[in-house]
Amino acid sequence: MATIEWRSPASEMAVQQFDMAAAKLGLDANVAARLRRPDRAMIVSIPTRMDDGKVHVFTGYRVQHNDVLGPFKGGIRYHPEVNLGEVSALAMWMTWKCSLVGLPLGGAKGGVACDPAELSRQELQSMTRRYTAEILNFIGPEVDVPAPDMGTNEQVMAWIMDTYSQHKGHAVPEIVTGKPVAIGGTLGRREATGRGVVYMIIEAAKHLGIDLSSCTTAVQGFGNVGSVVAKELAAIGVKVIAVSDRSGGFYDAQGLPVERLLEEAADNNHSLEGCSYGEKITNQELLELNCDILVPAALEMQITKDNAARLQCRILAEGANGPTTLDADAVLKEKNVFLIPDVLANAGGVVVSYFEWVQDLQNFFWTEEEVNKKLRDILVKAFHEVLNMSQKQKVDMRLAALMIGIDRVARAMLWRGLYA
Ligand code: NAD
Repeated sequence: MATIEWRSPASEMAVQQFDMAAAKLGLDANVAARLRRPDRAMIVSIPTRMDDGKVHVFTGYRVQHNDVLGPFKGGIRYHPEVNLGEVSALAMWMTWKCSLVGLPLGGAKGGVACDPAELSRQELQSMTRRYTAEILNFIGPEVDVPAPDMGTNEQVMAWIMDTYSQHKGHAVPEIVTGKPVAIGGTLGRREATGRGVVYMIIEAAKHLGIDLSSCTTAVQGFGNVGSVVAKELAAIGVKVIAVSDRSGGFYDAQGLPVERLLEEAADNNHSLEGCSYGEKITNQELLELNCDILVPAALEMQITKDNAARLQCRILAEGANGPTTLDADAVLKEKNVFLIPDVLANAGGVVVSYFEWVQDLQNFFWTEEEVNKKLRDILVKAFHEVLNMSQKQKVDMRLAALMIGIDRVARAMLWRGLYA
C-alpha cells in the first residue's frame, strides 16, 4: 500500500479500488490517507517441530486494517503463496465488507505461508498453536476475532480456541468464529458464505428477470465456499456444468451430479482429483465456459484483462475475495455482465461469524432457521442498497458497494476524531 512492505499485486488492487471509491465520494483527504494503509501489520516466525524431528520455521501474518466500527474481524488463510501484501489487501476488504453489511466490526486478516495438504495433522496442529501463541497479545474477543479462510477449517479454529483458552486459564469460545458447534460454534456457519452467495444470485436473477431453473453455472474452487454454492444452486434447479479445485476442473454440459461429487471429494481428502464425472478441463477453461452464472470461489486475480473478454456469463458472483482485476472490471462492464462484488457476494461468512460471536458472548444459542433468516435479511437489504447506489450514481456494483462501505467507516472516523 503506501509503503513498500505491504505492496503486492493484491494490495495495489485494493488501494486502487479504494482510491476510485474515495474520489467518487469526495472523501476527506486526511481520512483517505489513513484508510489507504492498515492500523497494524504483524509478521511472526512460527517454529514447528515436523514429524521427522526437524524444526521448520513458517512465516505468519496478522494485519489489522481498521477498527473504527468495532473489534477487528477476519479469517486466517493457510496457502503457500500467502504474503504480507495479500493479507493486507484481504484485511482492507474485510473493513469495507463489515461496514457494508452493517456489522459493528472492523477488518483484519491473517495467514501462514504453508501448504496444509502437505502437513500431517500433528504438524498442522503444532503450527496452528504456535501461530496463535505468537499473535496472542494482539487478538481477543473484544480486540480481534479470527475465523476460517482458505486452507483453514473448524478444526484449526478449535485449536486456536483451545490455545488461547489454555493461556487465559478458562474457556474463551468467543475468541474465534467458525468453530465446531460442540465448543460454541453456531449452526449454519460452515455453509454461511456459500449460502449467502446463492441468496445474492437469487436477488440478481430477480432483478434481471432471469428464471434460475433454466440457468447453468460454473464454479471455480470446491472448498467451503464453492462446494456449498454448487450444492445449493443445484438444489434450486440450476444446472452445475463445471466445478474445479487446485487439481483442475470437470465439465459436463448435461450437468454434474453435485451430491455424488461431494461424496467422492469427502472420501478423497476433499479433493476432486481423479473425479469420475465429466470431462477434464483446466481452471482457465472453466472461467470461459458458456454459462449463465460464473462463481469464482478460490483465489484472487483469476479474471484479468487477458481472459475477461472471453467470459460468457450473464452474472458474475464473486465467492472468492478479489478474483477480478480492475482492468477486467472495465471489460465486464462493457460486456454488460452483472457483477455481484466480493464484499457483498461472500459477506455471509462474516455475518454468521458475527452471529456466532454474539451467541458466545450471551451464552445463548439460536436455531439454524433463525441464523439463516437473519443472514438472508441482512444480505438482501445490502444487495438493494448497493443496487440503488449503483443506479443513482451510475457506477458498477463494485464501486457502489465500496462507496457505501467506505463512507460509513469515514463518517465513524470523523465522529471519533484524531487522538494525538
Ligand atoms: P477452502 O480452502 O475451503 O477451499 C478453497 C478451494 O479452492 C479448494 O477447492 C482448493 O483446491 C481450490 N483452489 C486452491 N488453489 C486453487 C487454484 N490455484 N485454482 C483453482 N482452485 C484452487 O477455502 P474457502 O474457505 O472456500 O475460500 C475460498 C475463497 O472464498 C477465498 O478467496 C476466501 O477468501 C473466500 N471467502 C471465504 C470465506 C469463508 O467463510 N470460508 C468467507 C468469505 C470469503
